Amino acid sequence: MTQFNGRTQICYGENAINNLEKLTGRHAFIVTDPFMVKMGFTDRVISCLERANISQSVFDKVEPDPSLQTVQKGTVKLLSDGADLVIALGGGSAIDAAKAMMYFAYKADPSKAKPQLVVIPTTSGTGSEVTAVTVVTDTEQQMKIPLIDDLILPDMAVLDARFTRSVPPSVTAATGMDVLTHALEAFVSTPANAFTDLYAVHAIKYVFRYLLRCYRNGDDMEARQNMLLASCMAGMAFNNSGLGVAHSMAHTLGGLFHIPHGKANAVLLPYVIRFNSFDVRDRYRTIAKKLELPCETVEQGNESLIEAVRWLNSQMGIPNRVRDLGIKEDDFQTALETMARHAMDDACTTTNPRRPSPRDIRQLLRKA
Ligand code: NAD
Repeated sequence: MTQFNGRTQICYGENAINNLEKLTGRHAFIVTDPFMVKMGFTDRVISCLERANISQSVFDKVEPDPSLQTVQKGTVKLLSDGADLVIALGGGSAIDAAKAMMYFAYKADPSKAKPQLVVIPTTSGTGSEVTAVTVVTDTEQQMKIPLIDDLILPDMAVLDARFTRSVPPSVTAATGMDVLTHALEAFVSTPANAFTDLYAVHAIKYVFRYLLRCYRNGDDMEARQNMLLASCMAGMAFNNSGLGVAHSMAHTLGGLFHIPHGKANAVLLPYVIRFNSFDVRDRYRTIAKKLELPCETVEQGNESLIEAVRWLNSQMGIPNRVRDLGIKEDDFQTALETMARHAMDDACTTTNPRRPSPRDIRQLLRKA
């Protein structure tokens, strides 16, 4: 049986933030990071809630790659504030922290109604505003742990590109390549279907059309809006199809070496395309064709797709090798076994089109 689910109400376009005024509820718990407060983004959200007569409290302590400790602190506050509405404002880190807090608060007392979850992404990257996924970091084990549960699927996503205008070029590049990795991994994953393909292909085309424009001119609002749509569409795709080993390896590189998630994906993606190409080379050629890249033969299609990803990386200062991400060679070699083990155990590995062995993962990481 093939299924496609998409439950989140998506509000996008000019003044999309004003949709918050239509919310009903008593008290909103806003989960965000200190930068959002400094930029006045939190105040913008609070104004809308005040107009809707909804009181609010703010948890603004989310760090990049949120830790279990941060999630615990937020869960305690969420429970004591008794909110019936959770609003996540920020990049994937703030969104995932909010989802995890909501999950643990609900598990602590399932007799209470589940709060509504509204997500306002401020990066165009994770697609977390439409996924049932949260990624939390266990700092002791130095591991990123994905948790997947329909309970944390957002009820509403507000895509207002003005919140992404201030994203600096390096974060624009990394998060944009995260979108591309989501869409490409979704397109070749084992559960991919006609509906996930639609979203994935659209997202891939938009990344190639708009990401460099965002990177070169952060004020290009047409490009910003379309990257926000691409991110959301890639999220719709992978929420149904799962991902692949680029993500599994990016998770372990993030957990052990704090490499930004999108940047790790960007570097790994060309190696993963080559690794998978024996099994899904026609699928990669289809993408090459959609992008109007040279693809007379299947091999040419695969190679031109790899080259196109490398070219995009190079235009945004993203290196081609994991070692150029600032990891010391000795540390990398010492961590190789652990990385391979973590990547093999990662949920994203199960939907990769080619089932890897631990040796494959070690080889991939060495090559990359
Ligand atoms: P992020 O949320 O960690 O943000 C990166 C940095 O950009 C932060 O310092 C943040 O303050 C800043 N920032 C965010 N919005 C900004 C804005 N508008 N202007 C200026 N600066 C801004 O980065 P991210 O890539 O969005 O999220 C990464 C996290 O999401 C990782 O932990 C990753 O594992 C997770 N993730 C989750 C999913 C999912 O489905 N849940 C998917 C992919 C990644």
